[in-house]
Parts: sequence; structure tokens; C-alpha cells
Amino acid sequence: MSKTELLKNLPAVDQVLRCEALDGLRSKCPRPQLVGWIRVAIDDCRKQILGGHDHVSESLLGAVVGRVQQLATADDGQAIKRVINATGVLLHTNLGRAPLADRAIERMSEAAAYANVELDLESGKRSKRGERVTRLLAELTGAEAALVVNNCAAATVLVLQAIARDREVIVSRGQLVEIGGGFRLPDVFRAAGVILREVGTTNRTYLHDYEHACCEQSGAIIRVHRSNFRQTGFVTEPSIDELVDAKRPADVPVIDDLGSGLIHDLSALGLHEPSVRDSVRSGADLTLFSGDKLFGGPQAGMIVGRKRWIDVLARHPLMRAMRVDKVTLAALEATTEIHLAGNAMSEIPLLRMLSVSADQIRQRCRAVLEKLPSVHGVNIEIVNTDSQVGGGSVPGVNIASHAIRITGTSTDELARKLRLGTPAVQSRVTEDGLLLDLRSVAESELDSLAIGLNEALTYHG
Ligand SMILES: *Cc1c(COP(=O)(O)O)cnc(C)c1O
Repeated sequence: MSKTELLKNLPAVDQVLRCEALDGLRSKCPRPQLVGWIRVAIDDCRKQILGGHDHVSESLLGAVVGRVQQLATADDGQAIKRVINATGVLLHTNLGRAPLADRAIERMSEAAAYANVELDLESGKRSKRGERVTRLLAELTGAEAALVVNNCAAATVLVLQAIARDREVIVSRGQLVEIGGGFRLPDVFRAAGVILREVGTTNRTYLHDYEHACCEQSGAIIRVHRSNFRQTGFVTEPSIDELVDAKRPADVPVIDDLGSGLIHDLSALGLHEPSVRDSVRSGADLTLFSGDKLFGGPQAGMIVGRKRWIDVLARHPLMRAMRVDKVTLAALEATTEIHLAGNAMSEIPLLRMLSVSADQIRQRCRAVLEKLPSVHGVNIEIVNTDSQVGGGSVPGVNIASHAIRITGTSTDELARKLRLGTPAVQSRVTEDGLLLDLRSVAESELDSLAIGLNEALTYHG
């Protein structure tokens, strides 16, 4: 059949709806939902025909019904579910960035019921939300005070707005970045109601550029960490220590937007990122970082620094719109405790995954490989690969790892089956086949991964 004939023969919604094979679904789910799936299924088949996939021609009705059943299985009503991350990207924004420590998970579930977020159990009086966690954060980072908001983007908006509204914020042209998801610094400045005062050039900005820009109109100096790209070659910019020492009016604070939030030195692992403690120690007035990047906790925006400025932020009306919920507070408190106790490398999954040797990962690959079926034509082997930190941290740094590589079958199709399995598995699709980098897979997930792979491969083969 020609494409035109096939398209003409696509079944109508009503015809699919009456189909005997869908009796079960018809009695189980609301009609509008079923009709929705049918429309999507017909549309998918149309796309397949247009894309020249000839296998749809066998039975168009059968193909559409099959697709409806797939959609129904995938849509079990739970939108957010556990996913095994076999991409090797440890902070995968699409997968919710940092996986939480067990202790943080337990505390979140405890806080999910009624919890004393704003109640002092001793006096029975109202207490300040997040009192303990901000105290711990200040202790951990060496800062005078701390504040927590929804994420680092919110922290930036709050700080700019509360401290420099209608005034100029001085920033290097080399730091006017887009962080991701359309979060662009110049837009953020505009949204926060501050005036962007660019200084220097893309590659070179000197201390005197900042000093010359300081005037009565100045509200703040901000340094934005280039989290997601690197600049090399003929480049220079003042360090945070130098910025702090810049000749500036006393009411013009230096704000350090770090993003990644490194607490412990990871240079032994080849990861060089500015640390929160160094930023505070340098004398930055406010240091901002994310809770769910290298800190390894829940989504949150941490602001640490001088009490004088933290108090201004805490009193600002926007603060009420950006405060975090009890569950996040509970997870953050537990994660901060782990950092303070010096147990981060063993208790925080992100840091644990970073420190596993390539050899250990190879052994994991072998253990999974042994449990996989042999499927005709499908080739499964262990290959060298590189993992990445991701999430806009440490760009360009590759961490040696190993992956299970599957070739000899449609990679996209297999990746899709893995995603739709239980548990869902996110793999890495490359030109050289499907890769499962086990650096981002926990030891405890290996059995489930093997089961998921078995199903996807057998059903596939
Ligand atoms: C990631 C990042 C942000 C945004 O952090 P979120 O917690 O995702 O909002 C802001 N600034 C820098 C420098 C970053 O790297």
C-alpha cells in the first residue's frame, strides 16, 4: 500500500473505541481518557506512516489498538515515579538532580504528617520557620547567618530585589550567563527591578572596571559563577577576595552567586569548583548556592553571609512567597547535619557515586551482564565511558566510568521500553548504541535494573 492509501485507511476514533480488544479498558477507565489515548495512538500511527515505517501496514487497526494499550499501561495515573538513572549524568535536571540521603528521606516522611515547623515544643509558642537548619548552615559555611528559599534562582531574585531595587548592580560582561531553562541573568535583573551595569569585556574584566563603575547609583556588585561552561585562553577576572577588597561604598555589598554549592574539597576527584566556605571566608557579603547540586540535598536556594543583609532579606515581603515547605526543610536539615558530621562522602548519594572507582563500576556492569538473556542478534558488552556531574556543575569534566552497551537492535525503541518499564530506566542513547553507565545507579538498584533490562530485551527480541 502507498502512503496515501495507508493514511486513508487509518481507523476512526469510533472504530477503535468499539474494538473488542479494548473491552477491558472501556469498562475500567473514563471515556474521555480512552478517547484521548486513541487520538494520540492514531496520530502516532500517522507519523509512522509519514516517516516511512512499512511495518504499520500489516494491520492499522491492530497497530492503533496496540499503541492505545501501551499508553494505558504507561499512564498508571502516577506522574512522578522512581527512575533508575543509567545515564551517568549524576545531577540530571530531568531526573530531579540530587538523589537524597536515606536520613533525609526518613526525615521528609516524618515531616509529611503534622510537624513543628513553626512551634517551639518547649514553650508551646510560635517559633521561626527553619530556625535550626539556618543555624546549621551558618555553622557549616562559617557565615554569620543563613536563609533558605525555593531555589538558587529565587535566591538571586530576592537578593537583587531586596538589596538593590532601582539601583545599579555591577556585573562583568563575562558573567552575563544563561543558567538553563531560559534563566538569563539580564532578564533576572529586569524582573528584580535592578539596573544592569555591565563592566569589562567578555574575556577580560579588571578590578578597576568594578571600581570605576561604583557610584551613588550602585546597589551591589555581583559575581556569577560560570557553572555550565568554561572560558580558557586570554581571560582574566578578579577573584572574590579581590572584589571584596575593591574600593566601594560601605552599603554596596558583594554578592557571590555560586550555584553549585561545593562544601567539601573534591579536587582529589578532579573536580575544581569554588567552595562556599572559601566564598564566605573571603568576605563576600552574601553567598548563594543550590540545595540540589553538589550539596546533594533537596531543591532549595541557600543564602549565607552577613547578618545585616540576611535580616534585610528575611523581612522582605517576597520572602513569604519564596519560603520552603516543611518536607524540604526536614530534608535540608538532615543533609546539613550529614555535612557537619563529616559523613558526606559516605552518606550523600551524589558524593558516594562520585567517589566510586571505575573498577568498581566495571564489576557492577559484570554483575548485571551475567543476569541478562542472550537474544539473537543483540550484542551486549562492557565498554569504557565517561560520567558527568551535570546539573550545570563542573562543565567539561569527565569521570572515567564503564557502561553496558547494547547494539544490534533499535536503540530508540529499546530506550523507550526501558523508560516505560517498572521501574523506569533512563539510559543514554548514542550513535554507537544504547549505554547504561552504572556510576549513577545505586548498588541497591542493580537487581531491578537487571529485571527491567531482561523484560525490555526479551519483549524486544
Ligand atoms: C544552577 C545555578 C543557579 C540556579 O540554581 P537553581 O537552584 O536551579 O535555581 C543560579 N546560579 C548559578 C551560578 C547556577 O549554577
